[in-house]
Amino acid sequence: MVGAGPAGSAAALRARQLDPGCRVLLLDRAAFPRDKACGDGIAAHARQELALLGLPGLLDDHRPTPRLSVTSPGGAHVSAVVARPNHVVPRRVFDNRLVEAARARGVEVRRHRVRTLTTLGGHVVIDGHLVARAVVAADGANSAVRRLIGVPPSPDRHTAIAVRGYADVPPDDDEQVIVMQSEGWPAYAWSFPVGDGTANVGYGLLLPTLRQTGRPGREILHGRLARLLPLLGEIRSPVRDLRAHHLPLSSGRPVPGAGRVLLAGDAASLVNPLTGEGIYYALLSGRLAAEAAIGSPDDPLRAYRRGLRGALGRHLRTTDVLALAARSPGFIDAAITVAAHRTEVFDLLVDVGLGAGTVPPRLAAAVALRWLKNLT
Ligand SMILES: Cc1cc2nc3c(=O)[nH]c(=O)nc-3n(C[C@H](O)[C@H](O)[C@H](O)COP(=O)(O)OP(=O)(O)OC[C@H]3O[C@@H](n4cnc5c(N)ncnc54)[C@H](O)[C@@H]3O)c2cc1C
Repeated sequence: MVGAGPAGSAAALRARQLDPGCRVLLLDRAAFPRDKACGDGIAAHARQELALLGLPGLLDDHRPTPRLSVTSPGGAHVSAVVARPNHVVPRRVFDNRLVEAARARGVEVRRHRVRTLTTLGGHVVIDGHLVARAVVAADGANSAVRRLIGVPPSPDRHTAIAVRGYADVPPDDDEQVIVMQSEGWPAYAWSFPVGDGTANVGYGLLLPTLRQTGRPGREILHGRLARLLPLLGEIRSPVRDLRAHHLPLSSGRPVPGAGRVLLAGDAASLVNPLTGEGIYYALLSGRLAAEAAIGSPDDPLRAYRRGLRGALGRHLRTTDVLALAARSPGFIDAAITVAAHRTEVFDLLVDVGLGAGTVPPRLAAAVALRWLKNLT
């Protein structure tokens, strides 16, 4: 496995779960624990994946965040208790726990930056000396392995960029807040309380929109986050530890690999284009990649594509369409307005934005009707 984020660790854990005798090497250029620019929001759907990996209690010592508040670009607002609570766990903690769990399951974890990759018969050779039957490339948004196997990087129009930092909030803050912005739409700011008197706060937008400003990225991202802070609840300190990163959106997903190299997580561009959520998809795709590598050693890519299609095919087609519709901020205004009045629509939006949810035609019709009403 190349990359020890959620996708790589999930793949390593699953491989050893399916075949306790197999040799699994988990490579990462960073020493763990390491930070990763992220909102730290871990959806209930991701916890389901953790349970499948044999780690149901991994986050039990972290307080769940039961409420979610969303304000649309036009000011429609919903705040409600989510059907299954989410968690907010700093990635320095979360990713390290996954790596330690993999190590405890017999995975060899090694600090190593991958630079070259060649195929030799039925094997893949990394950096001239590491030989594997299959490689799960989980090396993130700027995946070197993806480039090495000839898969082009995520096109700019399907790439977002976001900055996150930490600030002090009241210790009892238990609501994840998302405030969408009509300026530079699609764009939003968030505050996700960790549960210890701090919150992860951030701001993100599409890469081409950032470029169009003609200003340095840092100036736009930091400036807009600072400006939007008063909308994000009771923030009691300046924001510290600001850090930005790209998000390759699933609306621009490529073929997920070549031969015996399978792309997972951000390396496969699996970030939800509506929300920027990627941890659930990283865990899921890492698990599926390992299942394909172990279960179909002769043609793992075929098995992996089948697995991804089965688990996410309908969802990804749904978010492809919704991402197009969401180019009109009025569509999101309508969806949030309907969600504010109907719990099942709110729950469904959460499932589509954070999990593998799809939209039943009846509910799509309700949102479309509201959208049309707003237009007239
Ligand atoms: C600001 C921001 C906020 C976000 N907020 C959320 C959120 O709240 N919830 C959510 O679910 N998602 C969020 N995301 C998306 C989420 O962070 C990613 O989808 C997720 O980290 C993907 O996991 P991964 O395992 O694919 O990659 P990563 O977590 O990026 O891990 C990749 C690993 O590969 C290693 N690596 C890279 N290159 C090499 C190399 N050549 N050799 C060896 N190792 C290498 C890196 O060191 C890294 O450890 C956010 C993203 C950003 C940028």
